[in-house]
Amino acid sequence: MIRKKVVLHFPATLVEQPFIYYLIRDYQLMVNILRANINPRKEGRLIVEINGEEGDFNEGIDWLSAQGVRITTLKQQIIWREDRCTHCGACTVICPTGALYLQRPEMIVHFDENKCVACEHCLKACPAKAMETLMENTTG
Ligand code: SF4
Ligand code: SF4
Repeated sequence: MIRKKVVLHFPATLVEQPFIYYLIRDYQLMVNILRANINPRKEGRLIVEINGEEGDFNEGIDWLSAQGVRITTLKQQIIWREDRCTHCGACTVICPTGALYLQRPEMIVHFDENKCVACEHCLKACPAKAMETLMENTTG
């Protein structure tokens, strides 16, 4: 089994096609949508985490590519430096995916890297410089 985060870029002509449904139905992949947006030119961008057998993953990605979907890997990884974190909670307010969250009632901040989409909002928001970015040498 493998788990990968990838970015799917859809041209405007394909935005309304149910590609995620086909990936699940035809390639037995589990697809978790982490982020989705459509730009003013009606092009779509989905950040997804895909779980499945490596062969199924590769076949599913090949099929998407053949349909005209461009696929890139999420090249940035966000690191939480717990030793620097003051648990002020500022990042939890702006994190769009809930990757940074407060544990109540203790009011302790945690970081779930599986939910992170590397938007970098937390890097700007953190007064303690506890969030860092790391470039990965992955290829799409
Ligand atoms: S980069 Fe920061 S703000 Fe963005 S999803 Fe990851 S943890 Fe949340
Ligand atoms: S903003 Fe920085 S210091 Fe504050 S809770 Fe988030 S990571 Fe910790």
